[in-house]
Amino acid sequence: MRSNTWLLVFFLVAWMNILHLISAKKEESPVIKKLKESCKETGTCPVTFPKEELKDRLTPVQYRVTQEKGTERPFSGKYVDWRHEGVYTCVVCGNKLFSSDTKFDSSCGWPSFSDVMNSKSITLVDDTSHGEIRTEVRCTDCNAHLGHVFDDGPKPTRVRYCVNSASLDFRKHTTV
Ligand SMILES: [Zn+2]
Repeated sequence: MRSNTWLLVFFLVAWMNILHLISAKKEESPVIKKLKESCKETGTCPVTFPKEELKDRLTPVQYRVTQEKGTERPFSGKYVDWRHEGVYTCVVCGNKLFSSDTKFDSSCGWPSFSDVMNSKSITLVDDTSHGEIRTEVRCTDCNAHLGHVFDDGPKPTRVRYCVNSASLDFRKHTTV
């Protein structure tokens, strides 16, 4: 009698484990899928990249600017006087950020834009470092530091996104 009881308990536990495994596998995939879809819409789930991968993939300046909130020297960046038509993307994750249509010459030494392509693709954060009150601009998808935004831009937005070239990549418009 006693051994029968133990056997019953054993099978019950085994069966529950199997049920758990089956249900876990069945549930996991749609939930994660849904989460990813909702993140795309709300932009609330940043993607993280391993530090080592980024150190490998990015130049030292790109890494310092995007990951350690650095600032490249004025007039030193690749895209300060860049005139091509296309889309500026996040150098870390490829998120589309700025269109060449909104780029203007601000003479400040960094690429300047009067608007973003999609307000959800950037996140604004209060920055009180260096004894100033500024608004930091980050990539919503990967949290990379991009630059700062000021209210002295051209009409109609009057906004100036002052962005480091090192945070950006560029894709030319294709004519296909
Ligand atoms: Zn990004």
